[in-house]
Amino acid sequence: MELNTIFETLNEALEISLSYLISPKRRTYFIYLVTSALLAYYVYFRSKNKQGFLQYLFPKKVWLGKSAFVDYSMVIFNSLFKVIFIGPYLILGLYIAFYTNEFLLEKFGYATVNLGKTETIIYYTIALTVMGDFFTYLIHLLMHKIPFLWEFHKVHHSATELNPFTQYRIHPIELLINNAKSLFVFGVLTGIFDYLSNHQINKLIFLGVNVFGFVFMFLGANLRHSHIKLTYPTFIEKLLISPFQHQIHHSNSPDHFDKNMGSKLAIWDWMFGTLVLSKTTKDIEFGVEESHDKFSTFWGNLATPFINIYNSFRKLFK
Ligand SMILES: [Zn+2]
Ligand SMILES: [Zn+2]
Repeated sequence: MELNTIFETLNEALEISLSYLISPKRRTYFIYLVTSALLAYYVYFRSKNKQGFLQYLFPKKVWLGKSAFVDYSMVIFNSLFKVIFIGPYLILGLYIAFYTNEFLLEKFGYATVNLGKTETIIYYTIALTVMGDFFTYLIHLLMHKIPFLWEFHKVHHSATELNPFTQYRIHPIELLINNAKSLFVFGVLTGIFDYLSNHQINKLIFLGVNVFGFVFMFLGANLRHSHIKLTYPTFIEKLLISPFQHQIHHSNSPDHFDKNMGSKLAIWDWMFGTLVLSKTTKDIEFGVEESHDKFSTFWGNLATPFINIYNSFRKLFK
């Protein structure tokens, strides 16, 4: 690598790191942090906590503890990883869209329905949100059920304190899988809607954040990874995963293993029988068995999944 390529790569990675605060596509966009703080105030107010609000919001062990530093280093490392190993392949999404469109044309000829511009935007956004959410659930379920995938996903669950950056504490292998899933869903749906709308999609300005994503993040998505137990009324928790329901997902109690695996919608958990409501749960602790040893450092989080998989293979062939 030449010196200025290295410099450019570092610069791009820095931009991605900063985008966590200034891009509306990120959960950690400062506006969402502000609305999250307001919702946190509501929880604080109702809990009749005696300490000051700022102290309640920023406990040292949550923001400056060992677990948090692993989160922060993962954010920086994954930004670099994204520039080098993921960024160059994002174009694949457009190829998938192109070939999906070609395939439909060949199979069915010209589409008999022809969606208008507004219809296309509405249906396309709904389809992306619902299908995206379903595939996120499915991949998440597989990560919990397939032992070698669980080794990588354990990195996210190894956090013993949750803060909004824990969202991005994921192993680079999981990052690759998640991006492949997003490209696939984006590509196939874009291809289908391009076909159904007689290539209107090409002319649409691609909205980075759709309305649903914005509402979701506005409603305190940041509090999912936090110590603040924001719950929704029970009937809403059957539709949308509340922050506390995601905290239950991180619980180290066997009762909560493989529960609440949904991202935005709770309906998949409800359909597959993995939904747990907030009202059934009180105090929880976060982490996995190996949280305090193997997964307590940045390097430990990067290497342990590979070491664990290697060891299980060795056992298998002994
Ligand atoms: Zn999980
Ligand atoms: Zn999580």
